Amino acid sequence: MADTVYCYCCRTHHPREQMRRYQTRHGFRWRCLRTIDAARRPPAERDEFGRQTTSQNREHARRMADLSTVRRLYPLKTGEAR
Ligand SMILES: [Zn+2]
Repeated sequence: MADTVYCYCCRTHHPREQMRRYQTRHGFRWRCLRTIDAARRPPAERDEFGRQTTSQNREHARRMADLSTVRRLYPLKTGEAR
């Protein structure tokens, strides 16, 4: 994860080679090629892209929730003997 850049569009990190500096009203932001390409496409495709991103985010949130459940059920044993 050394050479990654925060993408303000996806709110996640991507490898630097997938990123371009993008000027907004608030200055330069890093944005990935994926979202830049998507923004150039016709609106119908853009909607589809938005849905994919949303479902990916939902999937990610679900996985993180699962992980915290696992951690709660199976806490790491740190050498204490009972
Ligand atoms: Zn991105």
